[in-house]
Amino acid sequence: MTDIFDNTILCRKCNTRMQKAQIIKNNFVFRAMVCPKCGEKIIHPVDEAEYEKFTNLKNKEFHVKMRLVGNSYAVSIPKEIVLFMKEQEKMMNDMVRLCFEDMGKLSLNFREEQNKLNKKFE
Ligand SMILES: [Zn+2]
Repeated sequence: MTDIFDNTILCRKCNTRMQKAQIIKNNFVFRAMVCPKCGEKIIHPVDEAEYEKFTNLKNKEFHVKMRLVGNSYAVSIPKEIVLFMKEQEKMMNDMVRLCFEDMGKLSLNFREEQNKLNKKFE
């Protein structure tokens, strides 16, 4: 499948050939075309639509029940969240890091590699 960004795209402001780039916003990676001369940007329309889906999911609150399974409690993670993440990450293993982040708050981290990367830049 060819991608629209594989075409030659000229900047509408200065007619310079735009170059592929990545823009990261809220840990979300967008494919973009950037004009090296004037800095004009075009965000990939598919990524923009995905980001829209992401912001909708992000603010959605789910009510899930805790179940006792052996000596642990289990909660169900809504399928739409996991499927969306899998689609974004292209691959994801089933190991998740869980942390008692604060009183009344648990966090789940699905992104081992990403965190290692972030640490490097800290
Ligand atoms: Zn330009």
